[in-house]
Amino acid sequence: MPPAKRKITVLPGDGIGPEVVESALAIVNATGVAVEFEKCEAGAQAFKKGIVTGVPRETIDSIERTHVVLKGPLETPIGYGNRSANVTLRTLFETYGNIRPVRELPGVQTAFTGRNLDIVIVRENIEDLYAGIEYMETPGVAEGLKLISREGCEKIVKLAFAFAIAEGRKAVHCATKANIMKLTEGLLQRTFEEFAPQYPSIKSKHILIDNCAHQLAMRPEQFDVIVTTNMNGDILSDLTSGLTGGLGFAPSANIGNDVSIFEAVHGSAPDIAGKNKANPTALILSAAMMLRQIGEGKAANDVEQAVLVALESGIRTSDMIGVETPATTTEFTQVVIASLGRSSKVSPPKNYKKVEMPPSQPGVNVVAVKSRRLTGVDIYVESSLDPANLAEDLEKLTEMSPLKLLTNRGAMVYPASGRRVSLVDHFRCRFVFRDAAVSAGDAEILSLLGAVSAKYRWMHVEKLQEFDGEPAFSRSQV
Ligand code: NAD
Repeated sequence: MPPAKRKITVLPGDGIGPEVVESALAIVNATGVAVEFEKCEAGAQAFKKGIVTGVPRETIDSIERTHVVLKGPLETPIGYGNRSANVTLRTLFETYGNIRPVRELPGVQTAFTGRNLDIVIVRENIEDLYAGIEYMETPGVAEGLKLISREGCEKIVKLAFAFAIAEGRKAVHCATKANIMKLTEGLLQRTFEEFAPQYPSIKSKHILIDNCAHQLAMRPEQFDVIVTTNMNGDILSDLTSGLTGGLGFAPSANIGNDVSIFEAVHGSAPDIAGKNKANPTALILSAAMMLRQIGEGKAANDVEQAVLVALESGIRTSDMIGVETPATTTEFTQVVIASLGRSSKVSPPKNYKKVEMPPSQPGVNVVAVKSRRLTGVDIYVESSLDPANLAEDLEKLTEMSPLKLLTNRGAMVYPASGRRVSLVDHFRCRFVFRDAAVSAGDAEILSLLGAVSAKYRWMHVEKLQEFDGEPAFSRSQV
């Protein structure tokens, strides 16, 4: 009896999705691996049927059976209403690590041709501003919450190092904006610096994200693996794909403890959909990453080598620079299939090891501290008063807890700093409890809130805490 075939959920997706997915499936089939595809819906087709998450139940059931997904791009409706089917999939299956490799490819002309770029962005994929927790605080002021957890940082840092070791890479940079966002972005930096010494064979270095973007444009060959937060990683990985030939060549893997989703970095490219013009390379290379993940390392190498051989033969799709007579998606696919079994002249297969996935922690993850103290509260209010008048009024209302400061969009406006700030009707009012040595309780906050709300519309409240004697909140910007 032939061995059972490994089942894979396939989401053809929207726009050019079905064309590039068809190309990748034809190539995977041509390698002869024992796999079977379960084609399912997600994205625009699902939204049209009124499924608000963009992912039907049958698709979720299939993924729960197969644990592996090869997907085409899914359109995201812009504006209010439906949420992104991509985000639904990532959060539903907790694919916390997004691995986006790029490398110089033969015949793909770029400003960096000849510099042998081979860079991987390891992007945290669940947390950060992409959790999409947003509010209109006042009719004119929007807020998004950037939530970063120690657990999320630990997982992505360990995945970055595990991946670097599996691929025989030399260095991991951690790119953050920790100089400004000391608590959120700083948590990734601190976690990285804590765990890096456990991987002595890999060089590690922190770099500020803006400098990282600059360095990537100037001397990208200095980078090997870059680990970063969700939004930074999204932006940086589009940049790195641009360095090596564009979105048509950028594959990715969304890795979780239970489910992994493989897809191109690019979107549904509605401008070229249905024209047999799309470059399928990104999805073909994503399929190679998938084959490696399911233990089909030889087939993965064969697919990658066949892509390189096809490009070395001179075939070009319309997105490549300097192409006069571009090949169609179908023609490109056929050349890759015909190249299976041959080796690239410029880039032999790498000797990949299995990625040792960091173990998942069951239950609720807690970071323990020895002591904690409540020292005050920030109350956000809506007001059109000028800061001096607002402060005077609040001080009268809340005699039991002195008003320490007011900020407007983060800038201190009371006590007056002399800074010219253009004001909006959204103030953070910081109150510090009178006896700083004693921990206050919720009763103080509730009575303060009661006093403020007698006269002002308030939106939200943040406690000012100390953990182990250290302030657990940011200082205000003067
Ligand atoms: P896009 O990546 O679809 O297109 C950007 C440009 O790159 C277009 O000019 C397009 O023609 C070109 N391009 C992209 N892939 C190509 C390929 N394989 N071959 C040749 N040219 C290619 O980005 P967009 O226009 O911002 O987004 C379109 C839709 O895709 C949106 O609804 C967006 O939300 C969605 N999207 C989905 C994903 C995903 O599913 N992971 C990722 C990004 C965008």
